[in-house]
Amino acid sequence: MKKIVANFKMNKTNNEVKDYIMKLLPKYEKDKAEIVLCVPFTAITLSKFLLDGTGINIGAQNICDEDDGKSTGEICGSMIKNCGADYVIVGHSERRVKFKENGRIINKKIKLALKNRLKVILCIGETLAEKNTLKTNEVIKTQLEDALKGLYENELDNIVIAYEPIWAIGTGKTPLAKEIENTVKVIRKVVADDFSDKAGEKIEVLYGGSVDVKNIASFSKIKNINGMLVGGASLDADNFSQIIKNIR
Ligand code: PEP
Repeated sequence: MKKIVANFKMNKTNNEVKDYIMKLLPKYEKDKAEIVLCVPFTAITLSKFLLDGTGINIGAQNICDEDDGKSTGEICGSMIKNCGADYVIVGHSERRVKFKENGRIINKKIKLALKNRLKVILCIGETLAEKNTLKTNEVIKTQLEDALKGLYENELDNIVIAYEPIWAIGTGKTPLAKEIENTVKVIRKVVADDFSDKAGEKIEVLYGGSVDVKNIASFSKIKNINGMLVGGASLDADNFSQIIKNIR
């Protein structure tokens, strides 16, 4: 079954999350896809309460890279898990750019997420300048190797890689299906070289960047991906339920 991760980003108060879930649930077809709603920290507990038993999973959008309490204003893995989330997004480009998260920090976050039994949605992707200078493969390899440094192969079962070209996020621009397929091949090869062929085949890889109701069916045909990460188009429950309906 394909996976669809919704990233609400910094959107929705708890009242809005409640309305959204109430609208989504009657339209949600359980067998169509495995859904993860990555809501703001403030809405995790409420979402868990409303979604318990529905099969829809909850994710956070960030995790602190420290575990020791001396990080005012941050939220650590044990807190996220205890609120009811099972997933956490790590390495989103908005955090890499705005909050200067580098490979070392992302690697620390992944290890702390795994330690707290959270599954990681690891975002990687190139800028437009990197794409235009044919550096995509190199960037992907570096981001992946930095993020996965020091992990054991069995820990990859709890990691989902989301290939998100930065120039495609929120822009309405998307790569060609062939380009996504080629980059996903590179991702699987890096994992195969660093861990094993089996790991390269098995690891879940999603595509994210301007996925919407109109393009979901064609993205679904890309053979080597396991699903999608949807940002803007996930914010409306009707829209999102249509996306779920149209995934193949
Ligand atoms: C994202 O923010 O991860 C994302 C994929 O956004 P959008 O779908 O809006 O491009």
